[in-house]
Amino acid sequence: MIAGIDLGTTNSLIGVYESGFPTLLADTDGRRLLPSVVHYGDSILVGHEARRMQAIHPNRTIASVKRLIGRRFGEEGTEGLTGIPGAPVTIPLGGQNLSPEEISSEILKKLKVIAEARHGTEITRAVITVPAYFNDAQRAATRKAGELAGFSVERIVSEPTAAALAYGLDRLQDRSKIAVYDLGGGTFDLSILQLDNGVFQVLSTHGDTRLGGDDLDQAIAALVASKASLPRLSLPDTIRLHEAARLAKETLSTEEQSTIRLPFLEGGMNIEVMLTRAEIEGACSPIIRRTRIHCLRALEDAGIKAADLDQVILVGGSTRMPLVQHLVVEIFGKEPNLSQHPDESVALGAILQGAILDGSLQNVALLDITPLSLGIETFGGLMNVIIPRNTTIPAKAGEMFTNAVAGQSGMRITVLQGERELAADNWKLGGFEIPFAPSPKGAARVGVQFSIDADGILQVLARDTGTGIEKIVEIKSAVEVSDEAVEAMLAGSLEHAFEDMDARIFTEARLKAEEMLPAVEAALAQLAGELPPDEIAGIRHQTAEVTAALQSKETVRLKQTLANLDNATQSLATRLIERAMKIS
Ligand code: ADP
Ligand code: MG
Repeated sequence: MIAGIDLGTTNSLIGVYESGFPTLLADTDGRRLLPSVVHYGDSILVGHEARRMQAIHPNRTIASVKRLIGRRFGEEGTEGLTGIPGAPVTIPLGGQNLSPEEISSEILKKLKVIAEARHGTEITRAVITVPAYFNDAQRAATRKAGELAGFSVERIVSEPTAAALAYGLDRLQDRSKIAVYDLGGGTFDLSILQLDNGVFQVLSTHGDTRLGGDDLDQAIAALVASKASLPRLSLPDTIRLHEAARLAKETLSTEEQSTIRLPFLEGGMNIEVMLTRAEIEGACSPIIRRTRIHCLRALEDAGIKAADLDQVILVGGSTRMPLVQHLVVEIFGKEPNLSQHPDESVALGAILQGAILDGSLQNVALLDITPLSLGIETFGGLMNVIIPRNTTIPAKAGEMFTNAVAGQSGMRITVLQGERELAADNWKLGGFEIPFAPSPKGAARVGVQFSIDADGILQVLARDTGTGIEKIVEIKSAVEVSDEAVEAMLAGSLEHAFEDMDARIFTEARLKAEEMLPAVEAALAQLAGELPPDEIAGIRHQTAEVTAALQSKETVRLKQTLANLDNATQSLATRLIERAMKIS
């Protein structure tokens, strides 16, 4: 079993795929988000306990270590740290010099303990997510952190890709484009993805590694300080104020107002400040608006317009703010998909990725869509698709068919699966005969309906609308097709695409020729006396050409000679109609 881990700048999560569902694992207090904070004191504390220590021992506690992972002194994010430019970053903490990998591994170890306690077994394999823009060094360092924590790291996955997977967007149509707007605690990323054969490609990514919920907390803290006319605060009080600002911000995503109470500040101060959503929106708006330019740049880099996007998804806890959601609509001109919890979707995607890798998700993935098209064989041996490939199940679709031959008293329904134009090249799943009263060509009306239930069982129903007689067959194997078989079918349909198309056009022309030739013969027999001999000779010549073309099996030739015959018989057709009018 492979666990999925979102190793976030602010919060980290872990989960496993359990009895068919991606499941996030909570600690003993029921909390699923573990703050990515590590405290080095008498012992190492991680998460909520470490966050509490931040105010008391700021220099023994580190948050946002993700900004430093895989970095060298002098690179972005290392400002304020001292070391030899170009050497891997180390951080002085609790009397030691620690690497970001070592610190991150403490977060991962804690996640491992939480998960094992919850799940009841040892968990040794994991998928870990990283931002799309992480370079090789940052990815390798993240992998190293996982190994230090005792995981075998099966894959490093991009966060936007994981989120898109959690939203189920791998089931969108091929070449769909998705914008992933991720506003977390300390960073903002906008990624444009494109679905290629079921795999997400990152077309572009833009962002700001210094823009997130922390900046909003700071703006709200400043607002509170000015409303309460606070003097300059000590470091621990400043941290308390920020914490209170963050809680108020989170509350105001669902409530209209919230009160901040901070008793016993240094110097014996007590403050109580009421905040409204409108007030904090005023303070946060300029910060949130800074995400806009990154969205526009990412679209430009991907070479697309906002209107080309099929979906916009929100990721990161800060996108729970209504103001952020409004801005997203403004930027993309589209309502974002809100179907997942924004701060859990990356972890859910990591779990799904793990489940795909360890094989537990295979069947489910196949059962969710039709792996190949389903249809019936039509007159002339062609495939008539009723439910196209990649349709989400359950699904239902139908079509009306008629008899191609006069006097026909039944129709054979042959159920086919595959992507080829000719019925014979597809797989035959089953078949049956539906009887109807003998009727002139094209007079019978037979409705055929395909429905696939959630278990992948295909039911084919055919009903003669004349007599009301209906027949139903059930086919169990419509969705359970092995990956190899699907791939072979798709490869075949690509390889034979041109021949297949040609075969379809030829068959359609052949059916038309087989209809026209006897009709022309019959008309000539009726009207022979009324037509000039050279016209009759002309028509005879063209029918001979069509017959020869039919034998040659050349599609272009057959289509051409049919068109010529059509032309040559224009006046014959007119006379036939005039005659019919006179009689009636
Ligand atoms: P990261 O990806 O940076 O690890 P998250 O996606 O967990 O972080 O986002 C954390 C941020 O989301 C914090 O700034 C937190 O205050 C913010 N946040 C969480 N819930 C809400 C909420 N309901 N309203 C506004 N912001 C929220
Ligand atoms: Mg995140």
